[in-house]
Amino acid sequence: MSMNNQGRPTGIGSADSAVPDTITGNRGLQIEEPLIFEQDSAGRCGVDLPEVPAMRMRLGTVKPRAAVGLPGLAEPQVVRHYTRLSQKNYAIDSGLYPLGSCTMKHNPRLNEKMARLPGFSDVHPLQPESTVQGALELMDTLAHWLKTLTGMAAVTLAPAAGAHGEMCGIMAIRSAHEARGDTGRTKILVPESAHGTNPATAAACGYTVESIPATPDGRVDLEALKAKLGPDVAGLMLTNPNTCGLFEREILEIAEAVHGAGGYFYCDGANFNAIVGRVRPADLGIDVMHINLHKTFSTPHGGGGPGSGPVVFAESLAPYLPVPFVVKEKGDFRLVEEAGEGPAFGRMKAFHGQMGMFVRALAYMMSHGADGLWQVASDAVLNANYVMARLQDVMTPSFDGPCMHECLFDDRFLKGTGVTTLDIAKALIDEGFHPMTMYFPLVVHGALLIEPTETESKASLDQFVTALRALAERAKSGDVEYFQGAPRLTPRRRLDETGAARKPILRWTPPAEQAQAAE
Ligand SMILES: *Cc1c(COP(=O)(O)O)cnc(C)c1O
Repeated sequence: MSMNNQGRPTGIGSADSAVPDTITGNRGLQIEEPLIFEQDSAGRCGVDLPEVPAMRMRLGTVKPRAAVGLPGLAEPQVVRHYTRLSQKNYAIDSGLYPLGSCTMKHNPRLNEKMARLPGFSDVHPLQPESTVQGALELMDTLAHWLKTLTGMAAVTLAPAAGAHGEMCGIMAIRSAHEARGDTGRTKILVPESAHGTNPATAAACGYTVESIPATPDGRVDLEALKAKLGPDVAGLMLTNPNTCGLFEREILEIAEAVHGAGGYFYCDGANFNAIVGRVRPADLGIDVMHINLHKTFSTPHGGGGPGSGPVVFAESLAPYLPVPFVVKEKGDFRLVEEAGEGPAFGRMKAFHGQMGMFVRALAYMMSHGADGLWQVASDAVLNANYVMARLQDVMTPSFDGPCMHECLFDDRFLKGTGVTTLDIAKALIDEGFHPMTMYFPLVVHGALLIEPTETESKASLDQFVTALRALAERAKSGDVEYFQGAPRLTPRRRLDETGAARKPILRWTPPAEQAQAAE
């Protein structure tokens, strides 16, 4: 693969003689796109403006050291640049996105229409409350839906995403222990299969993380959990359904054990899509749980927009709800802003949260209705089980029995083939599918976690299954080279992903400066 002077790989660098290199580096209608700085033509501009009259600097003694260095481009160049970049971004709007634990589902366009109503899209968080009564009522209604769906007593809409919601929940747990003067609780228990944000949150809040092993059937080992519970444990963070796509059957016993030891039960609600409308988390003994509006309630996700991670609180923790929250007084809606004014531990972020996501989520809930949301969970689980049933003879499901909203395979079916989970994922890209979640959860070897969601049709699931079955069979036939060469049809082939994550080159340097540095 050739590199340009920024260390950026250029050209498709085909290792495959059947796919010729082109003169331009373009392939069909897939255009090679240089950085915007590499397209710079000094002085070029998108508009014709009159000559600027003699200008006087008004920065006092502060003098610019050099020109700002913005690239000069004409308007069509800019439009093409960003349009081409956007086309390199795979999205749920372009195709199936079976990324396990991510709930990449279709965002109905009705949501977008509602979010664009000027009364919602143009409000400012510092506007007088009397001018945003509708927006506040919308937040209040959304809060009501979230409380009803979860059976919980209180909700904060402020957290900006799931991980931020986790932090909010753990801070509430810490506040509750502190309020009782119970300062000896230094540990949070987290199952092995947990999403990385769970232990990270606990550690960021100053807790020591203790891992709970899984049973051979992929669930929390209740006896191991009980053995770790004690007066030093602040709480448990558990995902249900868990990240193996399995419902924690002993969840009532788990809740009872945690409460019996004086701890609180945090539930990571990222997988709520599997149970929304069918199971109320409050009935499972959960004290606090975040909800990812950008997963379960379809608001844009993964480069498509900001997340939103409301947190619901049971009676046990409701006094520790952070500000601000909406209340209705004498027919008017108001934001409670001061911690002293209401029962709150503080504030998670400036202002009240992601208004656009609230509108989309409520539009989604209201257009589905209670029965529609029940159907969402049912169809999400049905689709995952369909995918599992159609793949289980050629791939190796990690656990017996039906799954919830996602199905987990490990790499036993690749044993002895020389092909890895990563190779399967790369070959799937050539087939036009975003890969499934790979190597997570860590409790099985070489994990492939598939979450189709309820918004995929049987036809699209069949196409995906057909591709995956063919790849599994190809791997078993011994065609290792095919896999090691994949992906062949992408703008770039295999990149040093670890290097890109660990040592990213974030700054463009003009070639002249680079040449100087080299001298
Ligand atoms: C997505 C996810 C999170 C984190 O949510 P973000 O909104 O990405 O911060 C936490 N836990 C699980 C199980 C998830 O799938």
